[in-house]
Amino acid sequence: MITSHTYDVVIVGAGGAGLRAAIECAGKVKTAVISKLYPTRSHTGAAQGGMCAALGNLEDDKWEWHAFDTVKGSDYLGDQDAIDIMCKEAVDAVIELEHMGLPFSRNPDGTIAQRPFGGHTRNHGEAPVRRACYAADRTGHMILQTLYQQCVKRDVEFFNEFYVLDFLTSPDGTETAGVVAYEQRTGALHVFRAKSVVFASGGFGKMYKVTSNAHALTGDGPAVIYRRGFPLEDMEFFQFHPTGIYRLGILLSEAARGEGGILRNSDGERFMERYAPTIKDLAPRDMVSRAIRQEINEGRGCGDDGEYVLLDLTHLPKEQLDEKLPDVTEFARTYLGVEPYTEGVPIQPTAHYAMGGIPTNVDAEVRVSPDRVFPGLFAAGECASVSVHGANRLGTNSLLDIVVFGKRAGLGAIRHATQTPRHADLPDAPTAPLAELLDRIISSTDGEPAVEIRRELQDTMNDNAQVFRTGETLTEQMRILAALQDRYATVTVDDKGKTYNTDLLEAVELGHLLDLAETVVEGALNRTESRGAHYREDFAKRDDGNWMKHTLVYREADGTRRLDYRPVTLGRYEPMERKY
Ligand SMILES: Cc1cc2nc3c(=O)[nH]c(=O)nc-3n(C[C@H](O)[C@H](O)[C@H](O)COP(=O)(O)OP(=O)(O)OC[C@H]3O[C@@H](n4cnc5c(N)ncnc54)[C@H](O)[C@@H]3O)c2cc1C
Repeated sequence: MITSHTYDVVIVGAGGAGLRAAIECAGKVKTAVISKLYPTRSHTGAAQGGMCAALGNLEDDKWEWHAFDTVKGSDYLGDQDAIDIMCKEAVDAVIELEHMGLPFSRNPDGTIAQRPFGGHTRNHGEAPVRRACYAADRTGHMILQTLYQQCVKRDVEFFNEFYVLDFLTSPDGTETAGVVAYEQRTGALHVFRAKSVVFASGGFGKMYKVTSNAHALTGDGPAVIYRRGFPLEDMEFFQFHPTGIYRLGILLSEAARGEGGILRNSDGERFMERYAPTIKDLAPRDMVSRAIRQEINEGRGCGDDGEYVLLDLTHLPKEQLDEKLPDVTEFARTYLGVEPYTEGVPIQPTAHYAMGGIPTNVDAEVRVSPDRVFPGLFAAGECASVSVHGANRLGTNSLLDIVVFGKRAGLGAIRHATQTPRHADLPDAPTAPLAELLDRIISSTDGEPAVEIRRELQDTMNDNAQVFRTGETLTEQMRILAALQDRYATVTVDDKGKTYNTDLLEAVELGHLLDLAETVVEGALNRTESRGAHYREDFAKRDDGNWMKHTLVYREADGTRRLDYRPVTLGRYEPMERKY
């Protein structure tokens, strides 16, 4: 049985981006938020370190300096019109959250406290600046709770534990018609008709073995859109965060270095002094992750296998650690049995953040080609590529991105819904393609379960599409992914039931991860230069002559991929060599 719903706006995802969009729409147009997780379980709640804005509460700061840092941090691949908007609107976005009741940490004079973060500097790179607003090391948790409370106050309608697994257009393929969702409790398919659809479904770090990302981050939104013929942008740029807990990947926030923590190799040396003499341990993430890998590769890693370096907090006062970094220190104790008051904490780079995703313009409208947007379709947050982060995101710029562009997506969705007189017609049998996919998995008898294929995907992506990559490792990974796709074609599940069939949903999510991993590797193989998080050992230099452009990858009807490009929007800041 298929249940149908009709809304003006449907928002897919209840993380920071989705909730911020919903707040905008509430009370103005008929809006539903669909989320596979209960909203306050979204990954935004795991964010620790902060959200930046040039408030200048503790020292001089300007939004233009923030914009410069973001452009330079992006290795000049970020679009400067979008970056200007984000950095300028950041100040109001923070004040707005404060007025919604977000309990920011405070300075003695009552203003919002701010601390330094990687790549954020005073006056175009002179020295680190205190720009990150925070609530201890639980900033994302506070943002998510605050936004959710505002949604409850505004009676936003939620469909929780509903998985959006298909996107619908009008029969002629020219307009947004809605989405199809799978209800976890009953196994029923629901059609949600909508004039505007906003994807805010988060990242896809689960294609890697060592990752800071939660189990649910499987890129469903980008995968669904990609399978419907839309392009994905800049997928080769995946951020590795320098300080994941050794082997586990669980994140120790950059706030630890913002508060004065330093990295040391097996000689006890503060090695970042060699790689980034001006801002040292507060260099951007791509550079710090590469430096750690290089120390390890050259034999200066710690431990029996020489596979980690140490995050040293022992010189910081205990009171500061307790007040400013309670989670970071507790994670070190819980997961490693290490006491950060007195010992260095073993860390290694961990797959963290997707710079790429569903391409949009600054109004969060989704691009269906380099120069055309698709009527009624919007995307915001980590699943989108605006592009404000380019080839490398600065810490604290994502919590900012989700509120600034989440709001813009909400405004765009309202505008489109109110200007569109009627809902688009649905295609014939709107649930048929999804029902077919689910039936195929349920009825498959001779294939293997998802778990083994997923483990191999994660292990091999971890080995071959890492901080350092080469034509050879990437070609090998393309071959592995093709073989995994063949095995996935007959994937099976033990649970054949309708109620809470997580087995089935994990098999579907694995299909999304496999498709997205192919776009990551294809983009990386194609881009014969090094820029931001994408470092090719066989093409170690940035090549602005050939590669100052965004990659778009499309899926063809036969499952192969086609590449295209979109020019970078330049602005005030000319590309320069990136030194810190
Ligand atoms: C451990 C950690 C720490 C971080 N710390 C910081 C920080 O300090 N500062 C910073 O700026 N950034 C930080 N980041 C990055 C930042 O938190 C994320 O990029 C950002 O919160 C993503 O928000 P989002 O709203 O786009 O997605 P999410 O918060 O991930 O929400 C995604 C939503 O989509 C829903 N969804 C997904 N698929 C489906 C589907 N198929 N159907 C229906 N719903 C679906 C989920 O239920 C969820 O509600 C951190 C990230 C991690 C992992």
